[in-house]
Amino acid sequence: MQGIDLHTHSNISDGTLSPDALVKSAVECGIRMLALTDHDTMDGVELVRKTAQDHDIKIISGVEISSQWSRPATKKSYGVHIVALDMQQPEPLLDALAIQKKIRAERAKQICHLLKNCIGQDIYENVLAQVDGEADRITRTHIAKTLVEKAIVSRPQQAFDRFLKEGKRAFVKFDGLSLADTIQIIHQSEGYAILAHPTRYDLSATNVRYLIELFSELKGDAVELPSNSEPLSTRGMVDRMIEQFNLKVSIGSDFHGDNMPWIKLGNTPVPKVGQQGIWESFRSF
Ligand code: AMP
Ligand code: MN
Ligand code: MN
Ligand code: MN
Repeated sequence: MQGIDLHTHSNISDGTLSPDALVKSAVECGIRMLALTDHDTMDGVELVRKTAQDHDIKIISGVEISSQWSRPATKKSYGVHIVALDMQQPEPLLDALAIQKKIRAERAKQICHLLKNCIGQDIYENVLAQVDGEADRITRTHIAKTLVEKAIVSRPQQAFDRFLKEGKRAFVKFDGLSLADTIQIIHQSEGYAILAHPTRYDLSATNVRYLIELFSELKGDAVELPSNSEPLSTRGMVDRMIEQFNLKVSIGSDFHGDNMPWIKLGNTPVPKVGQQGIWESFRSF
């Protein structure tokens, strides 16, 4: 336990703990520095800060942005998650997130429409009920949970494997910010751009390498270290690329509460000697 977790979710997006309960749990498990990084929204950050006032824990502003990049050779575009941390002037990012939220709300409708053709029923209203009617908070996790509730699949993972992941019949690309624009807007907001979970995009090793090189060329700041559950060889590959492209590192659990009970809050990978943590550059305190 290093006491730092810079990638977590609340029930504002696809976690299960409220922002308030997240802070209390973080304090209980010894975290001293926490970032809430919900999908395309910073709506929980103020709540987290408020609860933290009564506790010995530092809060870093954060959000996980749905972004996309492409290889000029193939023109194929790939989804990528960029965690933005420690924004000092969040307005440009908040403007961009307002558009991302509209895209998210529209995409949820499109996914449910495609699903109707697969399962013969429209589950949109049930999905919407999970987010208190706020369509711009819907993630595929909510859709997967609804499919479990309706007994169409037995586990959320099965919903991704049968319908929701890339290549499946109800997959809809998140057609939002490009990687270049994402990094630029984060920097305009005086924050740091972190490449989230680089080995969790179903990319070949060649494409992971290309992505990290592109991220570095676009002046991205840090790469998240692979979680402790990933193979040592994966960690080794990412460590070598971080060194080669002179990037800093970030550490986060990607905690989602009971939606992913195997991920423990504060269970973050330990940086190697010589790796520089992005938290050493934070300006919030
Ligand atoms: P969205 O932002 O709507 O595309 O939803 C993305 C979220 O769905 C991710 O942050 C994960 O929490 C979850 N997710 C994505 N892919 C999978 C998968 N293959 N299995 C289970 N959960 C997934
Ligand atoms: Mn998620
Ligand atoms: Mn992610
Ligand atoms: Mn995440």
